[in-house]
Amino acid sequence: MSLLADNRVRENEAEIVRRYMSSFPVKVGELANELGLKVVRAPMPPKISGLIQPSTDAPAGFEIRVNKYEMPERQRFTVAHEIAHYLLHRDDIGAGVVDSIMYRSNLTSRKETEANRLAADIVMPAKVVGRELERIGGRRTDEAVEKLASMFRVSVPAMKVRLGVA
Ligand SMILES: [Zn+2]
Repeated sequence: MSLLADNRVRENEAEIVRRYMSSFPVKVGELANELGLKVVRAPMPPKISGLIQPSTDAPAGFEIRVNKYEMPERQRFTVAHEIAHYLLHRDDIGAGVVDSIMYRSNLTSRKETEANRLAADIVMPAKVVGRELERIGGRRTDEAVEKLASMFRVSVPAMKVRLGVA
Protein backbone atom coordinates (compact mmCIF):
# COMPACT_ATOMS: atom_id res chain seq x y z
CA MET A 1 0.00 0.00 0.00
CA SER A 2 1.23 3.48 -0.80
CA LEU A 3 2.57 5.62 2.01
CA LEU A 4 0.21 8.31 0.73
CA ALA A 5 -2.45 6.48 2.74
CA ASP A 6 -0.29 6.68 5.87
CA ASN A 7 -1.99 8.61 8.65
CA ARG A 8 0.96 11.02 8.88
CA VAL A 9 0.00 12.40 5.43
CA ARG A 10 -2.68 15.09 5.53
CA GLU A 11 -5.69 14.10 3.44
CA ASN A 12 -5.85 17.36 1.46
CA GLU A 13 -2.17 17.02 0.57
CA ALA A 14 -2.57 13.37 -0.43
CA GLU A 15 -5.37 14.48 -2.78
CA ILE A 16 -3.09 17.02 -4.47
CA VAL A 17 -0.34 14.41 -4.91
CA ARG A 18 -2.78 11.85 -6.35
CA ARG A 19 -4.03 14.38 -8.87
CA TYR A 20 -0.46 14.97 -10.12
CA MET A 21 0.16 11.21 -10.25
CA SER A 22 -2.63 10.72 -12.79
CA SER A 23 -0.58 12.01 -15.75
CA PHE A 24 3.04 11.54 -16.73
CA PRO A 25 5.76 12.62 -16.59
CA VAL A 26 4.62 13.77 -13.15
CA LYS A 27 5.29 17.50 -12.80
CA VAL A 28 7.18 17.34 -9.50
CA GLY A 29 8.13 21.04 -9.43
CA GLU A 30 4.54 22.17 -9.88
CA LEU A 31 3.42 19.59 -7.34
CA ALA A 32 5.88 20.97 -4.77
CA ASN A 33 4.67 24.51 -5.47
CA GLU A 34 1.04 23.50 -5.09
CA LEU A 35 1.90 21.97 -1.73
CA GLY A 36 3.33 25.36 -0.77
CA LEU A 37 6.97 24.34 -1.07
CA LYS A 38 9.56 26.44 -2.86
CA VAL A 39 11.99 24.60 -5.16
CA VAL A 40 15.44 25.95 -5.95
CA ARG A 41 17.97 24.36 -8.32
CA ALA A 42 21.32 25.30 -6.87
CA PRO A 43 24.99 24.41 -7.19
CA MET A 44 25.77 21.95 -4.40
CA PRO A 45 28.77 19.80 -3.46
CA PRO A 46 29.09 16.54 -5.46
CA LYS A 47 28.17 14.31 -2.50
CA ILE A 48 24.84 16.08 -1.89
CA SER A 49 21.67 15.48 -3.94
CA GLY A 50 19.34 17.86 -2.17
CA LEU A 51 17.82 19.14 1.01
CA ILE A 52 14.69 20.48 2.62
CA GLN A 53 14.88 23.34 5.09
CA PRO A 54 12.66 25.96 6.71
CA SER A 55 11.93 29.00 4.55
CA THR A 56 9.94 32.11 5.33
CA ASP A 57 9.37 32.57 1.56
CA ALA A 58 7.36 29.37 1.10
CA PRO A 59 3.65 29.17 2.05
CA ALA A 60 4.19 25.75 3.66
CA GLY A 61 7.27 27.02 5.47
CA PHE A 62 9.87 24.87 3.70
CA GLU A 63 12.03 25.03 0.63
CA ILE A 64 13.60 22.21 -1.36
CA ARG A 65 17.03 22.62 -2.91
CA VAL A 66 18.33 20.22 -5.53
CA ASN A 67 21.85 19.88 -6.89
CA LYS A 68 21.71 21.46 -10.36
CA TYR A 69 24.80 19.49 -11.44
CA GLU A 70 22.97 16.15 -11.29
CA MET A 71 21.06 14.64 -14.21
CA PRO A 72 17.51 16.03 -14.69
CA GLU A 73 15.98 12.58 -13.99
CA ARG A 74 17.92 12.42 -10.75
CA GLN A 75 16.84 15.94 -9.80
CA ARG A 76 13.21 14.96 -10.35
CA PHE A 77 13.58 11.99 -8.02
CA THR A 78 15.28 14.20 -5.42
CA VAL A 79 12.42 16.73 -5.53
CA ALA A 80 9.97 13.85 -5.01
CA HIS A 81 12.14 12.50 -2.15
CA GLU A 82 12.13 15.89 -0.39
CA ILE A 83 8.36 16.21 -0.96
CA ALA A 84 8.05 12.82 0.74
CA HIS A 85 10.04 14.08 3.73
CA TYR A 86 7.67 17.04 3.94
CA LEU A 87 4.56 14.82 3.74
CA LEU A 88 5.78 12.18 6.21
CA HIS A 89 8.50 13.75 8.36
CA ARG A 90 7.86 17.48 8.56
CA ASP A 91 8.07 17.43 12.35
CA ASP A 92 11.60 16.03 12.10
CA ILE A 93 12.98 18.54 9.59
CA GLY A 94 14.11 20.99 12.26
CA ALA A 95 16.84 23.26 10.90
CA GLY A 96 16.98 21.14 7.73
CA VAL A 97 17.54 17.66 6.31
CA VAL A 98 20.46 17.29 3.89
CA ASP A 99 20.41 14.20 1.65
CA SER A 100 23.61 12.62 0.37
CA ILE A 101 23.73 10.96 -3.05
CA MET A 102 22.80 7.73 -1.23
CA TYR A 103 19.77 9.52 0.26
CA ARG A 104 21.23 9.35 3.73
CA SER A 105 20.79 12.18 6.19
CA ASN A 106 20.50 12.89 9.90
CA LEU A 107 17.12 11.12 9.80
CA THR A 108 16.92 7.38 10.50
CA SER A 109 17.46 4.96 7.64
CA ARG A 110 13.85 3.81 8.13
CA LYS A 111 12.66 7.33 7.35
CA GLU A 112 15.00 7.55 4.37
CA THR A 113 13.59 4.27 3.04
CA GLU A 114 10.08 5.65 3.49
CA ALA A 115 10.99 8.81 1.56
CA ASN A 116 12.46 6.71 -1.27
CA ARG A 117 9.37 4.50 -1.44
CA LEU A 118 6.97 7.41 -1.54
CA ALA A 119 9.17 9.27 -4.07
CA ALA A 120 9.12 6.20 -6.34
CA ASP A 121 5.32 6.07 -6.04
CA ILE A 122 5.10 9.74 -6.98
CA VAL A 123 7.32 9.70 -10.09
CA MET A 124 6.41 6.14 -11.18
CA PRO A 125 2.81 5.54 -10.05
CA ALA A 126 2.44 1.74 -10.17
CA LYS A 127 -1.00 1.84 -11.76
CA VAL A 128 0.02 4.21 -14.56
CA VAL A 129 3.33 2.42 -15.19
CA GLY A 130 1.45 -0.90 -15.37
CA ARG A 131 -1.06 0.49 -17.84
CA GLU A 132 1.66 1.94 -20.09
CA LEU A 133 3.67 -1.30 -19.91
CA GLU A 134 0.61 -3.18 -21.19
CA ARG A 135 0.14 -0.61 -23.93
CA ILE A 136 3.68 -1.19 -25.25
CA GLY A 137 3.36 -4.96 -25.23
CA GLY A 138 3.46 -6.01 -21.59
CA ARG A 139 6.93 -7.57 -21.65
CA ARG A 140 9.63 -6.25 -19.32
CA THR A 141 12.35 -6.18 -21.98
CA ASP A 142 15.35 -3.83 -21.81
CA GLU A 143 13.73 -1.84 -24.59
CA ALA A 144 10.44 -1.54 -22.69
CA VAL A 145 12.27 -0.45 -19.51
CA GLU A 146 14.17 2.23 -21.44
CA LYS A 147 11.01 3.44 -23.13
CA LEU A 148 9.10 3.68 -19.83
CA ALA A 149 12.05 5.41 -18.12
CA SER A 150 12.02 8.02 -20.86
CA MET A 151 8.22 8.41 -20.76
CA PHE A 152 8.26 8.97 -16.99
CA ARG A 153 11.55 10.92 -17.10
CA VAL A 154 13.24 8.71 -14.52
CA SER A 155 16.55 6.86 -14.67
CA VAL A 156 16.65 3.37 -16.20
CA PRO A 157 17.85 1.82 -12.87
CA ALA A 158 14.90 3.45 -11.06
CA MET A 159 12.41 2.04 -13.58
CA LYS A 160 14.06 -1.39 -13.32
CA VAL A 161 13.44 -1.34 -9.56
CA ARG A 162 9.83 -0.30 -10.15
CA LEU A 163 9.28 -3.15 -12.62
CA GLY A 164 11.07 -5.70 -10.48
CA VAL A 165 13.77 -6.45 -13.06
CA ALA A 166 16.71 -4.84 -11.26
ZN1 LIG B 1 16.11 11.89 2.59
